[in-house]
Amino acid sequence: MKQYVYADNAATTKMDKVAYEAMAPYFLEEYGNASQSYAFSRTPKKALKEARETIASCIGAFPDEIYFTSGGTESDNWAIKGVATSNERKYTIITSSFEHHAVLHSCTAMEKLGHHIVYLKPEKTGEISPNVLKREITEDTKLVSVMYANNEIGSIQPIKDLSDIAHEKGVLFHTDAVQVVGHVDIDVHSLGVDMLSASAHKFNGMKGCGFLYVRKGCGLIPYADGGAQESGSRAGTENIPGIVAMAAALKNNCDHLVENSKKITSLESEFLRMLAESNIPFVRNGGLHTLPGLISLSFPGADGEAILHRLDLLGICISTGSACNSQNTEISHVLKAIDLGNEYAKGTIRISLGKYNTMEDVEKIVSGLKKILAE
Ligand code: PLP
Repeated sequence: MKQYVYADNAATTKMDKVAYEAMAPYFLEEYGNASQSYAFSRTPKKALKEARETIASCIGAFPDEIYFTSGGTESDNWAIKGVATSNERKYTIITSSFEHHAVLHSCTAMEKLGHHIVYLKPEKTGEISPNVLKREITEDTKLVSVMYANNEIGSIQPIKDLSDIAHEKGVLFHTDAVQVVGHVDIDVHSLGVDMLSASAHKFNGMKGCGFLYVRKGCGLIPYADGGAQESGSRAGTENIPGIVAMAAALKNNCDHLVENSKKITSLESEFLRMLAESNIPFVRNGGLHTLPGLISLSFPGADGEAILHRLDLLGICISTGSACNSQNTEISHVLKAIDLGNEYAKGTIRISLGKYNTMEDVEKIVSGLKKILAE
């Protein structure tokens, strides 16, 4: 297999060996349905319970506050649509204009049902100001949904301040933490969020698997009708291998959070130092408080799409915007939201380093960029 430099960890990550090994027995040996009461199903049932406990302990939740889903998209859909359709009333939902499409399109769907959506505009630094939320929140607001960190520019949001403002008004608060879980220390109870979305493939687990944290007493309505799985809230036979792998991957990342973050941050600093030394003009987007390793760069007058393809020829994988947008050559809604001028926006790429990247990878990326941009 060709050796690639994989620097698109915000799109997806390599599965951890511990996760892969943990899930393996549940395919060919322990394949029983966890809902059955015979002895053969005891091991998968126990694995499901333990995975829920592990995941809960990694984010400071209670096990019965964790609901398994098919990933970040489903978790976001559930949180937003579940709150909006909990009764006949029409509400105001507040979100931000640079959310992932899983949130934005869920909001659009709710708008079609008669709900009113307010889109908060981020600062140029990519931060949602608590004062902007304070101005917009009213008696009619039912839900505020603001992402923990932006997937294109990496800016981390003041979630505790935002959720406090929501709660002062008795409003529920959801955060899409897909880019954050497994990479930054999270304690949902001290963060004060009512719901939080996560996706296993962003933290070295399996694709098509995730969870929604729902604070006890939130009263979220069921997402899928059918069997009694997930306390009757999300019917469907559980994806035991994926859930077991997700728990193992999350625990592994949380156990090594500090060292992973240190390693990724030092790769990032070295990358930026080398790039600055090369005298190629660029700006970094996302302000001062960004996710470790998520580097959004704009090269004025360049073409981000062309850079991506040229790096691809060198075996280097990066992205221009979010993975879901890579087919779309228009300037992303995120870059528009932070008012990045066209000259910069068109020349934007996203490099996302992860724990498996090395200094050699960083050197190859810088040398590739130098070569491409010099031409
Ligand atoms: N939310 C954010 C911030 C994301 O970055 C992504 C994926 O890129 C999603 C939601 C969707 O997650 P999934 O791929 O698990 O559906």
